[in-house]
Amino acid sequence: MHVKIGVMAIQGDFREHKQMLQSLGVEVVEVRLPKHLEGLAGLIVPGGESTTIGMLAREYGLERAVRERVQEGSLALWGTCAGAIWLAKEIPQYPDQPRLGILDIAVERNAYGRQVDSFEEDLHIKGLDRPFHAFFIRAPVILRVGEGVEVLATHHDEIVLVRSGKVLAGTFHPELTHDSRIHQMFVGLALS
Ligand code: GLN
Repeated sequence: MHVKIGVMAIQGDFREHKQMLQSLGVEVVEVRLPKHLEGLAGLIVPGGESTTIGMLAREYGLERAVRERVQEGSLALWGTCAGAIWLAKEIPQYPDQPRLGILDIAVERNAYGRQVDSFEEDLHIKGLDRPFHAFFIRAPVILRVGEGVEVLATHHDEIVLVRSGKVLAGTFHPELTHDSRIHQMFVGLALS
């Protein structure tokens, strides 16, 4: 089945997401402006620097355009790491940080501190039959999830992957592995 998925290509590791999607036979569009959202079934917001992504997405008009499309239910959305921060309703440390803010979660940026800011771990993820090897890089922590937000994975009691309808958010980087199962899961959501 033909499906077109966008990758927000403002900043961060969008190329890796693009390659992963292309390996699944998906048509991929780099999204920098609202007009690039046309015809997309889903959009991935990559890891990177959430303040930069947030400021530029607002300036380019993407924040409003994505919010509209997701709220009307025509666009699936997945934020990884900085992308998850962009989606979050609450960032208690930085309440004024520009963001989409439509997913009812609260996040803390760089929550693992400087000493262990990057690590890898096998995760058990709801819906996957084998563990997923996950890379965390200066990752945020999901402090709280609202009603209707399902927790799909945790790591030492910390929430690392959630879903609400067609919106996914995770604090790790599946695009840096050769394991495309979460990308497949997202394409499935986009087609649903
Ligand atoms: N530390 C970054 C931020 O707070 C996120 C890191 C990442 O996306 N790998 O924006």
